[in-house]
Order: sequence, then C-alpha cells, then structure tokens
Amino acid sequence: MDLEGITLPVLGDAARNGIDAAGLLEGARPESIYAHVPFCRHKCHYCDFYSVVDRRDRSGDFTIRFEEEARTAAGLIDSSAVRTVFVGGGTPTMLSPAELERVLKSIRLPAGEADLDEFTVEANPETVDEGIAAALFDSGVDRVSIGCQSFDPRHLQTLERHHDPDSVPRAIDRIREAGIERVSLDLIFGIPGSTLQDWERDLERALSLEPDHLSCYGLVFEPGTALDERRRRGRIEPIDDAIEAAMYQLTRERLREEGFGHYEVSNWARPGERSEHNLVYWNLGEWMAMGPAGAGNLRGVRYRNVPRLDDWLSSEGPSRIVDVERPQPSIARGERFMLGLRLRDGMPRGVVESLLRDDPGRRSMVEDLLEAGRLEWWQEGLRISEESLMTADEVLSRLV
Ligand code: SF4
Repeated sequence: MDLEGITLPVLGDAARNGIDAAGLLEGARPESIYAHVPFCRHKCHYCDFYSVVDRRDRSGDFTIRFEEEARTAAGLIDSSAVRTVFVGGGTPTMLSPAELERVLKSIRLPAGEADLDEFTVEANPETVDEGIAAALFDSGVDRVSIGCQSFDPRHLQTLERHHDPDSVPRAIDRIREAGIERVSLDLIFGIPGSTLQDWERDLERALSLEPDHLSCYGLVFEPGTALDERRRRGRIEPIDDAIEAAMYQLTRERLREEGFGHYEVSNWARPGERSEHNLVYWNLGEWMAMGPAGAGNLRGVRYRNVPRLDDWLSSEGPSRIVDVERPQPSIARGERFMLGLRLRDGMPRGVVESLLRDDPGRRSMVEDLLEAGRLEWWQEGLRISEESLMTADEVLSRLV
C-alpha cells in the first residue's frame, strides 16, 4: 500500500476471541471493501505495509484464490450498502492485465450489482502500461491513486523507491487516455536531505500534472523499516522540524491558491473529488477486508486477515482471520476522536456530545485542548486548530 488507507490497531487472537471469518461476514453490511494485493517489485525503505518481493510466480495462484474469496464473501455479506472499493497493496498493478481484470471483476460479486460511488486502484507509475490502463477501465475502475512520493531522483533514492520520475506523467496520460479521469497523487515531504526549495519543486511538478486529489504526508520513520534502521545507525538525519513545518505550511498555501480543499490533515481535493473510501475509514464506518493482511472493521470488530501469502493461498473460503479486537467502549470512543478530528470539517457537535456524555475524563481533556487552542469549533464541527495541524498526531494521541 502507498499512503492512502488506514489500519486500526488489532491486538487479540481470532481463535481466542471465538471469531471466525464466516461468522463475522455473515449478514454484515459493509459500506466499503478494501482488497490487498501483496506483490511489490522491491521493498521501499520507508514502507511497513505487508508486501512480498520476488513472488510474481504466485500471481496466477493469487488470482484464483482471490476469485474464490470473492465468491465466498458474496455469499455471506449483505452487499446492499457497499458504495466504495479500494484495491491497494503492495502494488495491484504488478499483476498482469488479465490477472488484474479477473481480480477487479471478481470484487463486483461482494460489491453487489448497484453502481459504486468510487472504485479506486493504487498504482506504481512504472507499472502502468496501456494493457494495465485498459484493464482498469474495462473493470469499472474510476479512480487511480499513484504513488509518486517525489520527482527528485536523489530523494527517491533515499527512500529506496525505484521509479523514473518521468514515469508519473506517462502513467497519468495512459490512465486518462484509457478513459479514467480521476487521478490522485501521493507525495512525501520531509525526506532526509531535502530542502524547502526541493519540496516546492515537487509540489509544482505534481500540480502541473493536474491531479484531482493530493495526499501529502510528512515522512514517518516507522519502527522496523529499513529507513528507521538507517536513522538509528546514524546513516541518515531526519530534517529539521522547522523546515518540515515550513513544507507543510507551503503545501497548505499553494494548494489553497490552486483551488484544492484541505479536507483531512494530509489530504487535499478539488471540489467533489474527496476520497469517499477514505472518508468511510475516517468516519469509522464498516468495511470488509479481502486478501492477505487486509484489515477490516465490521460490527464493531477490527480484524486482519492472515498475513503470509502462502498461508492465505492454502486456506479456503473467506480469508482466515488472525488478529481481532472488539474494543472496549472507551477505546472505541478514542478511535472515533482519533479519526474524526483529522477531518477539516471536524466532528459534528452532536456526535462529540454523545461521545463525551459518559466520559468525564475525555470531556475535560477536550476542554483543556480547546482552552490551549489546540482544538477549535469551526462551523459546528470540532477539529484540530490550524496552528496545531503540524502536531496533529500528538494532539490526537492524548484523546485515544
Ligand atoms: S511500492 Fe513500496 S511503498 Fe508501496 S507497498 Fe510496495 S514496498 Fe510499500
């Protein structure tokens, strides 16, 4: 997976909690489906998503198993509420065009007959040829999210991200020529060794490609990643906090000038182009997960499918679930704040009031954060204040 998408913490053990996949899916009414395709050409050094390299020989088996999972899930869930599908990874566009088309068309079984509001697939730019673009369009995909991260070869090298920056405009052209209009780009700022001017160039280059949606994330050194290991060994230096804050400020100003709405801490969209799928995550709606390591949220249960490709391939029916958690009410309320406050429209006052009704500890924390100017009421919504956006994670962690 690149940058869109979210994973809530899942802690328990499925068997111990007495939850099996068929029991969880039966009769569930997800609004969304997330499907995980785990293949990557190379492991980027900042990435902590589940993906496998050098296993393309299994993509045919993956396709067959995925189709079986889709058929089984379709027989269990109530598809009538499904509005969005997001296929991430990994790199879904590493499949061959024929395999990709089979996988995407099989999702229509659990997604139901009705037209979807949004059908997004993630793509790495160097994998998008005419065949892949046609397979996406022919399968009903109406939005593609492209992981560019940077247009500067030096910074791509730091991330160990192997693509030619010129492959991004080529991929966009092919996607649009195939008939898909909605394009989102992922960018990363705060890469070690980068300057404010470098980031400005990246942002301008991205804008010149006329995306409808931009995700701009500050680089995170996720524990266990090769990038974090290089940092711990002193081989790379994180950039100065003040420069990173200036990069974020520049992003907000430039994208506002260009007519993008800032609708989530790290996401901007032209009018009508918000990611409907990610809004289901941020509003803690219900979504079903497919594929190895896919994470879902159904009936108040967070769960994750079996992560090892071979284990997933050798299982039958719906994906086996290995992690599951039914959070206590207080933790569930904390998650609701953690996600909802990221939205720039904020959390509606009625929702905030009902979440705080029996939670005096969190109520006083919210009041303290309001008084300190770190949260604010804006058009009847509670949100992170403009001044605290750069430290949003720290504010949110206090409410979880
Ligand atoms: S392409 Fe890179 S960032 Fe995306 S899932 Fe694969 S390893 Fe992770």
